[in-house]
Amino acid sequence: MRNELGHQGASEGEQAQPMERTYYRDLEAAACSDIERRFGPHISSERLRALKEVPTIFANNEEFQRLHREATGRNPEDGMLGFSSSIDAPSVVLVEGNGDVPDTLYHELVHRVTPPEIIHSMPRSLLEGITELRANQAVGHAPEQSIYDREVRAVRLLEQGAGEETVNKALLEGNFHEVKAAMDREIAKNEAATEWRERLREDLNEDRKSS
Ligand SMILES: [Zn+2]
Repeated sequence: MRNELGHQGASEGEQAQPMERTYYRDLEAAACSDIERRFGPHISSERLRALKEVPTIFANNEEFQRLHREATGRNPEDGMLGFSSSIDAPSVVLVEGNGDVPDTLYHELVHRVTPPEIIHSMPRSLLEGITELRANQAVGHAPEQSIYDREVRAVRLLEQGAGEETVNKALLEGNFHEVKAAMDREIAKNEAATEWRERLREDLNEDRKSS
């Protein structure tokens, strides 16, 4: 089932020029292949198929605002470059004024394959930090301006202690135990814990499920 957003896909062709269209589709195919290679063991084949079946909408400012309002009933927050609702609905990526479309696209596709129960229960700083770190790694750099710099640094630190597969498992299978243990180890090792490390720890200790 596609939600309302699915019907908006048709208008995308009117926005992008033919060469842009080819470029975006190639980009998306490459991102999907990379996600399959990198996270394949943690994602069901049904989800991987669903990911590829619904193409992303690459939107200008006006369309981005409109699609976000239609999906959520609210205007997008300042600085928002993309959003995703579910595996069956297209991600929407803002291209106008976006200096790093490949990074935003990868980030949104990772959100789409992440099971909804994890999206809703995982501390946001951890969810966004892992997702953005994987996007940075896939495109080979971090965007010049990212709202998730601090989260990405925190996850890099975690990954040193926990390893990449443990972090992937936490994101896609909801297995937080090893990540929590690694975080406690890393924080214990670094006495001069900076603000972002503290914040991550607070987030992780919060019981999100009670809210
Ligand atoms: Zn995100």
